[in-house]
Amino acid sequence: MASDHVDVLIVGAGLSGIGAACHLRLNCPDKTYAVLEARGAIGGTWDLFRYPGVRSDSDMFTLGYSFRPWTDPKAIADGDAIRAYVRETADAYGVTGHIRFHHRVLRADWDSASARWTVHARRDDTAEDVVLTCSFLYTCSGYYRYDTGYTPDLPGAKTFTGRIVHPQHWPADLDHTGRRVVVIGSGATAVTLVPAMAERAGHVTMLQRSPTYVIALPSRDVLADTLRRFLPAKAVYPVVRWKNVLLATANFQASRRAPNLVRRLLRRAAKGRLPAGYDVDRHFSPRYDPWDQRLCVVPDGDLFTALKQGRASVVTDTIDTFTPDGIRLSSGEELPADIVVTATGLNLLALGGMTLTVDGTEVDLADTVAYKGMMLSGVPNFAMTIGYTNASWTLKADLVATYVCRLLRHLDRTGLQIVTPLAPSGGALEPIIDLKSGYVLRSVDALPKQGASAPWRLHQNYPRDVLLMRHGRLTDVGVRFSRAAADRSSTPERSTAGA
Ligand SMILES: Cc1cc2nc3c(=O)[nH]c(=O)nc-3n(C[C@H](O)[C@H](O)[C@H](O)COP(=O)(O)OP(=O)(O)OC[C@H]3O[C@@H](n4cnc5c(N)ncnc54)[C@H](O)[C@@H]3O)c2cc1C
Repeated sequence: MASDHVDVLIVGAGLSGIGAACHLRLNCPDKTYAVLEARGAIGGTWDLFRYPGVRSDSDMFTLGYSFRPWTDPKAIADGDAIRAYVRETADAYGVTGHIRFHHRVLRADWDSASARWTVHARRDDTAEDVVLTCSFLYTCSGYYRYDTGYTPDLPGAKTFTGRIVHPQHWPADLDHTGRRVVVIGSGATAVTLVPAMAERAGHVTMLQRSPTYVIALPSRDVLADTLRRFLPAKAVYPVVRWKNVLLATANFQASRRAPNLVRRLLRRAAKGRLPAGYDVDRHFSPRYDPWDQRLCVVPDGDLFTALKQGRASVVTDTIDTFTPDGIRLSSGEELPADIVVTATGLNLLALGGMTLTVDGTEVDLADTVAYKGMMLSGVPNFAMTIGYTNASWTLKADLVATYVCRLLRHLDRTGLQIVTPLAPSGGALEPIIDLKSGYVLRSVDALPKQGASAPWRLHQNYPRDVLLMRHGRLTDVGVRFSRAAADRSSTPERSTAGA
């Protein structure tokens, strides 16, 4: 059993974990760190998902890191390009050598006397148990289970003679050329898969229980293309990034303040791209308001083009049962299929399934309140990365990393060792994620809560968070800085409240 100590232990080598390590290198170069990664590769989501057409639905000027310009001409990028970007960033910033692959973190125990976490991991490749200690634990473990995607009960599925596949576990040998494909679902994955598979399939049907808002956006950014002609990438990147941040913020705020107007605009835009006489209300007009669930982006309207060309179609109905040849719907219609893809979502998983204890007591996440959307009440020297639900994940991940570095420097400056968020003293608590998507509603009760006001409130607003997390005070009513108990016995306690 190996054991050693680092200042900061990062869990996960996906987009967030690599970004976190780079921020440490840049802003706290004297800190020692390691990254524990359960899998054998860098990239997380962008390495795991291999279905046809896998891509971002955010623009890469905001899904990319603040410190490393995205230079690829495509603003909405393919999974391969994103994976390469994350890997190249890890290499460029000297992070790759700090990653310990095949290390799944199972448990972390905080001890106030020594101001240390003891972290227990299991090596998936050698079945060895590994114990490390660290002063600060920083989880970048994403938000869903890697081992199984979500599949609802599919009546009669056993009788189906074709193949049923989940996008999270795409079989490398699956050839859909000339095949009849049914994609079950209407989220980001379904709207990506349908046009991509329709390029070679006989026909692709998107079978949805209810519609989602789908918006066509250009896959290239006109401003970026123009500026790149006479400015270096480093100068273009922040300009386009802020342009996209402001547009996305305005879009979200408009959806919240004038949902009916935005609903009408989205409907009109979809109608304009669909064939004449298409039943846009049945297939593209959701019952919920825009941004109650994430909007689905289709680059250059590829989904609408596939529908217009007759290579794909949308059916809005529910499944009665699978049959040997396909799916029978509640309306009685039969959908013949050779391949059925269950684009039915993810299983949420907080903190990569890790258990936390604080001085011997297990932390029940549902009893904790998130502080600035990145720390947990009552859990010392701990940060987690949860990205925005209404904007690119990395925007928030970058801010969390910046804030962690600020905290670490503050501790060093003040000679203190411990930072502990506190729960608000009153006021209503709400779920930490405000989306009403099925995958959120299935798990939200087990997740931390958010408070009614700052610093416990998640505003889902990047410009506001920039002020709070890059420039805001580190000491406020929601946090306590202190000494390790062992250190306190030799030196009097010093509080930094008001620093
Ligand atoms: C198909 C798909 C498309 C998406 N598209 C977008 C998009 O366009 N824009 C956007 O903003 N967001 C998108 N997202 C959300 C996306 O997950 C984030 O953008 C981003 O990739 C999250 O990065 P992460 O590093 O935080 O998490 P992940 O990418 O999930 O990486 C987490 C890493 O932590 C490791 N890990 C987990 N638990 C443990 C453990 N206990 N021990 C050790 N290691 C562990 C995992 O193996 C993994 O490598 C998408 C998600 C999916 C599934």
